Amino acid sequence: MAKDWTKIISGLKKLLEDVGPIWPKSTKLAGFASSGPYHCANCEYLNKDRNRCRQEVMMADPEVEKDDKGLAIITNPEIQCCDFVEPVKLVQIGGEYARARSSRREKQIGA
Ligand code: SF4
Repeated sequence: MAKDWTKIISGLKKLLEDVGPIWPKSTKLAGFASSGPYHCANCEYLNKDRNRCRQEVMMADPEVEKDDKGLAIITNPEIQCCDFVEPVKLVQIGGEYARARSSRREKQIGA
């Protein structure tokens, strides 16, 4: 079942109002940080150019810098990360594994 990000974001905002910041050293809503050791590099939400993120909470986070399309700007995917990281799914092709990205999602980000 697809996640209702609008509802999740609304719930997160209410929770933050009640309890204050949850994640240390990161943005309040998405938990985005730029100091590692976790990273965007293997995340499904990172675009092919490895400089934009289309994750809904990241795009709704007022502390995260966005481009003119509203995508979150990623400047260093090796040391940046948020709390909604989603590892890229791997598919086996012969003896090798390759990244599996659905064409639908690529269309959504205009990749
Ligand atoms: S880890 Fe978070 S910020 Fe980085 S690409 Fe994934 S969803 Fe976006």
